[in-house]
Amino acid sequence: MDGQPRVATWIERVTVLGAGVMGHGIAQVAAMAGHRVTLHDPDAAAVDRGLARIRANLDKGVSLGKVSEESRTAALDRIALAPSLASACAEADLVVEAAPERMGLKRSLFRGVEAAASPSALLATNTSSLSIDAIAQVLAGPGRFLGLHFFNPVHLMALVEVVRGSCTDQATLDAGVAFARGLGKEPIVVRDAPGFASSRLGVALGLEAMRMVEEGVAEPAAIDKAMELGYRHPMGPLRLTDLVGLDVRLAIADYLHEKLGGERYRPPAILRRMVEEGKLGRKTGEGFYRWDREKE
Ligand code: NAD
Repeated sequence: MDGQPRVATWIERVTVLGAGVMGHGIAQVAAMAGHRVTLHDPDAAAVDRGLARIRANLDKGVSLGKVSEESRTAALDRIALAPSLASACAEADLVVEAAPERMGLKRSLFRGVEAAASPSALLATNTSSLSIDAIAQVLAGPGRFLGLHFFNPVHLMALVEVVRGSCTDQATLDAGVAFARGLGKEPIVVRDAPGFASSRLGVALGLEAMRMVEEGVAEPAAIDKAMELGYRHPMGPLRLTDLVGLDVRLAIADYLHEKLGGERYRPPAILRRMVEEGKLGRKTGEGFYRWDREKE
């Protein structure tokens, strides 16, 4: 997490659109790696919350001895705020969009980004499920567009899926990979396909685990332990489902089922029933496990 600035590519100025759960984290790791970061979010309260989270994360890093006082201060100094989309993008080498997961919103944002950014700037979306090609349809120059899919919490999770659309130039892809490495992340290159690599595999495992609960093969804790101890997964698929939220997993399963067809991603009845009953996992206090929200 700590260290001197280590910008690994020609990308110096990074603009992050959206200061929410993902945007603040991307801004933080980019600033820590030495990039000049501009953060833009039309919701002023979201900007305040995002900056407060960045400060809190870095302060925790300092208290744990993982971040020095100097690099914390220097990283915060490298983050600027922009009041408008046009001012945010004007000088960017790379724009990373982390706005809500709605196709219409992302398309209209990228129309504005393309109009405001320099023609040499790279444009990236942090979408977790939408098609890169479908977003890129609004761009005159889709060769400079790619997916950079970070994981939550961004400052702790090593993986970045670098998603190649059918029009993404090789140079764009290479720069995306180098940028992710420069942040200290482990990039993997994935073609634009539903669920990329992470959700497609992770959800397949989760749905199979639910079918096993449904069939009475074993209790949820035993199924999770099979993966944790037998396959060295840090967390079993059902506990992970509780943390992500059963409603979120159901939405992804429905999407993958629609896009990929077949039976593999058809949501099991137990998942639909639990969502209808409001058993969404940790956030509601009950999912495949009971969660004591006071203690969480
Ligand atoms: P979020 O709701 O926490 O944050 C989104 C932010 O975007 C909000 O602060 C909102 O005010 C802002 N916003 C709205 N309109 C905007 C605009 N026109 N320009 C700039 N900002 C705008 O959402 P999130 O969880 O950070 O998700 C952002 C993206 O990252 C989504 O595409 C999501 O699918 C993806 N993603 C999320 C996670 C996760 O675990 N939350 C993980 C990987 C990827």
